[in-house]
Amino acid sequence: MSRRPTMESLNCVICLDRFMIPVTIPCGHTFCHKCITIHWDTKSKSQIGPQCPICNEKFATRPVLKRNVSMSCQRGAGG
Ligand SMILES: [Zn+2]
Ligand SMILES: [Zn+2]
Repeated sequence: MSRRPTMESLNCVICLDRFMIPVTIPCGHTFCHKCITIHWDTKSKSQIGPQCPICNEKFATRPVLKRNVSMSCQRGAGG
């Protein structure tokens, strides 16, 4: 039996649904690509910079959103 690490939730905290296109930001939290983009677009209207909605870690610039392949259906080798 193999246990997957750190899979507490497979749901996005923004839309409360399963990840469409999961992306992981530098703090390690994962969101839908669409959700976090909209979230930061909304925030960018205020003076608050991009930050994680879960742990509130702030980023100087909007992080590049990399697709989280490990959370997709496929199990890829390497990475
Ligand atoms: Zn979402
Ligand atoms: Zn975070």
